[in-house]
Amino acid sequence: MRVGIGFDSHPFEYNRRLRLGGLDLPGPRGLRGHSDGDALLHAITDALLGAAGAGSIGEQFPDTDPRWNAADSAIFASAACRIAGERGFSIGNLDVIVIAESPRIAPHAAALKARIAEILQTEAGRISVRGTSTNGLGYLGRQDGLAVVAVVLLEEK
Ligand code: MG
Repeated sequence: MRVGIGFDSHPFEYNRRLRLGGLDLPGPRGLRGHSDGDALLHAITDALLGAAGAGSIGEQFPDTDPRWNAADSAIFASAACRIAGERGFSIGNLDVIVIAESPRIAPHAAALKARIAEILQTEAGRISVRGTSTNGLGYLGRQDGLAVVAVVLLEEK
């Protein structure tokens, strides 16, 4: 078994759709980023690459590469999953925490799990998505942006 951790954080920006976990969520602000800014899928991608010993999202998909400008981050997550598969691993389980005052994650948790399972071609029962806050502390408490922590367990196939 192999464990990987991923962390990502992006600033909010007005006049941008809120892309999170491969879904468009309702909200007045989206996440700024070179790609679609999907911090949730970026954290998952990094966790998968870390567990597989395959480097980082920055090495695999550099934000200086024009190919990834406004890219759908599902591309990164599914590629990381494929790389892990090529190295002989499949997903045991994936646990994700979104740290933000808004959006609230609970109303979207089931849809996020289903979408992430689809992107990673695994069962939704292996995936957990939860929200929490910093109780008003720091840049997340001021709602300047959101952060995501992802932990994945890979099992040898
Ligand atoms: Mg990112």
